[in-house]
Amino acid sequence: MKYHVIVIGAGVAGLTVTKCLSEAGYNVCLLEAAEIAGGRIATVSEKGFSGPVETGAEFIHGKLPLTFKLLKEAAIAYETVEGSMIGVQNGVWRNEEHDANWSKFMKELNQLKTDVTILEFLDTHFCDPQYLPLRQAVQRFAEGFDLADISKASILSVKNEWKNIDKKQYRIKGGYRHLVNHLLNCCRSQNVAISFNSCVNKIKYNNENVTVYTTANKGFNADKLIITVSVGVLQSGMIHYEPALTEHAVAIQSLGFGPVIKFLLEFKTSFWNEFDDDIGFILTDEQVPTWWTQLPAESTLLTGWLGGAKAAEKIFEDDAALLQTALQSLSAIFHMPPAMLREELIHHKIVNWQTVQHVKGGYSYCTLGTEQAIKVLSSPIDGTIFFAGEAIAEGNSQGTVESALQSGYETARKLMRDYQPQKQL
Ligand SMILES: Cc1cc2nc3c(=O)[nH]c(=O)nc-3n(C[C@H](O)[C@H](O)[C@H](O)COP(=O)(O)OP(=O)(O)OC[C@H]3O[C@@H](n4cnc5c(N)ncnc54)[C@H](O)[C@@H]3O)c2cc1C
Repeated sequence: MKYHVIVIGAGVAGLTVTKCLSEAGYNVCLLEAAEIAGGRIATVSEKGFSGPVETGAEFIHGKLPLTFKLLKEAAIAYETVEGSMIGVQNGVWRNEEHDANWSKFMKELNQLKTDVTILEFLDTHFCDPQYLPLRQAVQRFAEGFDLADISKASILSVKNEWKNIDKKQYRIKGGYRHLVNHLLNCCRSQNVAISFNSCVNKIKYNNENVTVYTTANKGFNADKLIITVSVGVLQSGMIHYEPALTEHAVAIQSLGFGPVIKFLLEFKTSFWNEFDDDIGFILTDEQVPTWWTQLPAESTLLTGWLGGAKAAEKIFEDDAALLQTALQSLSAIFHMPPAMLREELIHHKIVNWQTVQHVKGGYSYCTLGTEQAIKVLSSPIDGTIFFAGEAIAEGNSQGTVESALQSGYETARKLMRDYQPQKQL
């Protein structure tokens, strides 16, 4: 059987492009390595937790147009994230405020015309010892929020993002999984051939035809191929191409992709309310530096977040060691012995995304080479192989569900413009 299009990966980008193409009458085959769809949207319902938890994507960062259009289309409910931002340094609590030199940093950044790495920018404008706290704050932010390596990340790319950092965020009630289910149902209603547990490791192509092989050595044939796997998978070299990629291979390696570990800890009580009953986020200098509650929802879940270089250092740490680190961090924040916190703990789940086989990291960030790489990856190889995914979308929302949606829509539009099989077959 020959398909019009094969799509690799049933994350948001793969599901979106499959939905668009199948609704337009294309005969699509969707191959997914995991046993379920969603990729980095990974809402888990597990015994021990009092409700569904987000081990991957959790927030909608502002009123993002594509995400909100889809929520409306699928009648999915959401709520605004609430609570204050608290800073805890050396165990001392205070309302979180930017470093005293933050506005100076943003002013300097607004005047910058030529892109450099975050590290070069800091070295040029803020190398005096008085700026050490600012440098640390910038690094914490880049690593924590963008999962970025500051010696590679572009300073201009974070400019707009960081200016809008204080905007409202939203959560999907019952989990992001609702959005995945909606996209999947749309694909199913178009009779898309969906094959789970199908991990692609070889692609043979020319300008008329592509054959894709899975690790079980099963072959699939189509006119066109869309690859939506993460940058981590692309960079790992686990997919072999015949003939080998040239310009696209260079572009793939110049993208930035950072590690992240997410800690989900459910306790018997929300003991943190005794400190402050309006905690949204806690930013600290502890080993697991960022924590958040589920406000406005009443919940006994605390979520921890460790991104960037410090997460990379923990690639080989097992669940027990990571849990111990998390409890030590909470112990310093809440002045409670780790043993007492362990007593309070009902259930936990820790996902170290750099070790997740079919993802190999968290999400992308912009390097100095990203703009050029996106241009290259946006043009199909031999008119046959297209790339899509959160890292390949143009615009400011890179690394998000919104950018995966955007990339899915853009790729479908591009393919449909260049290829109308109904007339050919
Ligand atoms: C911990 C974490 C928290 C996040 N938080 C947020 C957030 O709060 N808000 C937000 O907007 N974004 C967040 N993101 C980012 C967001 O989840 C991603 O940008 C988005 O889900 C990526 O979608 P995608 O389709 O591009 O890629 P993916 O979701 O990675 O989908 C790719 C799919 O390809 C499959 N695959 C991989 N290799 C193969 C192969 N060889 N053969 C077949 N299939 C393969 C994978 O299993 C996967 O299903 C977060 C990400 C992580 C990891």
